[in-house]
Amino acid sequence: MQTQVLKADSKENIRLAADLIRRGETVAFPTETVYGLGADATDKAAVAKIFTAKGRPTFDPIIVHVASIAMLPTVVNGIPEVAWQLIDTFWPGPLTLVLAKAGKIPDIVTAGLPTVAVRMPQNEIALALIEEAGIPIGAPSANSFGRPSPTCADHVIEDLDGKIALILDGGTTQIGVESTVLDLTCSPPAILRPGGVSRECLEGILGKVSVFSGTGDEVFKSPGQMKQHYAPRAKVLLFGGKCRERVIAAMRERIKELKPGSEIGVMVPEEELSHFTDEDVVAIGLGSFTTMEAVASKLFEAMRALDKRGVDYILTLALSREGIGLAVFDRLFKASGSQLIEVD
Ligand code: AMP
Ligand code: MG
Repeated sequence: MQTQVLKADSKENIRLAADLIRRGETVAFPTETVYGLGADATDKAAVAKIFTAKGRPTFDPIIVHVASIAMLPTVVNGIPEVAWQLIDTFWPGPLTLVLAKAGKIPDIVTAGLPTVAVRMPQNEIALALIEEAGIPIGAPSANSFGRPSPTCADHVIEDLDGKIALILDGGTTQIGVESTVLDLTCSPPAILRPGGVSRECLEGILGKVSVFSGTGDEVFKSPGQMKQHYAPRAKVLLFGGKCRERVIAAMRERIKELKPGSEIGVMVPEEELSHFTDEDVVAIGLGSFTTMEAVASKLFEAMRALDKRGVDYILTLALSREGIGLAVFDRLFKASGSQLIEVD
């Protein structure tokens, strides 16, 4: 299949993309989090194409995207009061709600679950596309399964060229990590995946929420929660510990052990880059660790850049787990195959 790439800067191109969606094809498009690979969420044959293109296992359910509240009855069966509060506060935005599924959503979308994940993205291109298509769009991240999520059109081309109908190029995504997935069908509500809306913000409205991912605990609740995910080809070694100097020293020690015969990449906040300049490594700065938003927006791009340099290992550092920091930790932890190297 020939994959078309179109700039998302004209109504005409949005219309073309919406037509493809309505005809049961797959289209990659930008959201405020990462690029999504979309198809008509009410058409099981169209959704099946997403799974094939990504090589995604069918037990991993996908998120349905809406452009308006009016589209919700097609997706969910009833909206509890607490969901309305969250919708009022965080939509459009990077918060996905897991609710009871409506009959129009085929089982392939939810991996057979009676629940469905739904969100309204905060991105004009995404909203215009869904609105123009006139149907909810099912869209996981537009990467090959297990790989780092795409934050620009080039990343989508890297993974899916020849496998999907169209890529709408809307530049680089703003947040850089995926949405927070919040299950409202249990009590207390549970974060199944930390993301763009922080745990602290949710607790401001909901009181206590439980977290089933990104904590370092081996507890999984959602079928899509894999121990290894969001991973570059290189082996990721994630270092953590209370004393930053000792963690850096342990990383440098490991580089010396691995160096003979391997190419090493390092991915750390700008402030720590100087500790690695005397080593023969490819070091990439993630932005300042004083703004975890900056780290989040660079994370997947840095993983892909290091893969392109052909490194065998990527050494990286666990940072603050507050705010969007929890999502950053979650992605690094999964990229490492859920192995945190704790330095005393
Ligand atoms: P992706 O869109 O590829 O970034 O991943 C979607 C995430 O949403 C996965 O981690 C899924 O496990 C989760 N998800 C989607 N639908 C459901 C659902 N019905 N129940 C629980 N988790 C879900
Ligand atoms: Mg994904």
